[in-house]
Amino acid sequence: MPAKSHSRRPMMVANWKMHKTPAESAAFIARLRELAPGNGGDCVVVVAPAFPCLAAAVEAARGFACAIAGQDLHWAPEGAFTGEVSAAMLAAAGCTHVIVGHSERRQFFGETDETVHKKVRAALAASLTPIVCVGETEAQRNDNEIELILRYQFERAFWGMEAEIFSRCVLAYEPVWAIGTGNTATPEVAEGAHRFLRRCARDIFGPEAAQALTILYGGSIKPSNMRALLDQPDVDGGLVGTASLEPDSFAALIKAANAQ
Ligand code: PEP
Repeated sequence: MPAKSHSRRPMMVANWKMHKTPAESAAFIARLRELAPGNGGDCVVVVAPAFPCLAAAVEAARGFACAIAGQDLHWAPEGAFTGEVSAAMLAAAGCTHVIVGHSERRQFFGETDETVHKKVRAALAASLTPIVCVGETEAQRNDNEIELILRYQFERAFWGMEAEIFSRCVLAYEPVWAIGTGNTATPEVAEGAHRFLRRCARDIFGPEAAQALTILYGGSIKPSNMRALLDQPDVDGGLVGTASLEPDSFAALIKAANAQ
């Protein structure tokens, strides 16, 4: 197992997508408190419920080291955008993080690299930590375009940013072919992409910012495969869909991250 030669804290993010009511969200967090009291270690734990559940989740997480994230945001501060939520609204609701550019937003809701960039800026302006998702589709992978796509998405998301501002962002490598499919990337494949993304960060923002950047892996993570992924030097944690819906499996993932 390659040793970790850096001081990045591990991070585990639950993306609940369109699952759970406010009461179910609160009950999950209450159970997580019992299973992972005080988190049991260094891992940064983040839960991203649906918008109507944010208040219940924030309340349930009071006094527990579990940050709450939005699953998306609009880039404008306010306006006539029916159904949308601003960064300031998320911050006022008690969120500290927000997921940006998830592939389901890109695939089904018209998210583009340009809107991702605007959302990252808006999140940062409201002092939220953006968790920025990038990743290639299966077709792009088969066409040997992985690095081309990752570099393009990375450059567009953080375009024109100062290194100091960039250092407030978290990156998630989420290969689209691995999300919700059961086809987890092998640790070697994940590490190759993470190493490449860290190189992209170094090329633009310098070695210190690259070294400090937290890069999560996402795509069919389970308690049984997390350990081997986390053993990779450039994999700092997970962005988890399906396996984050049950407190037991999410607690097992936090435990794996704390065992680094
Ligand atoms: C996700 O939606 O970000 C994700 C990684 O989902 P799953 O863990 O279900 O593949």
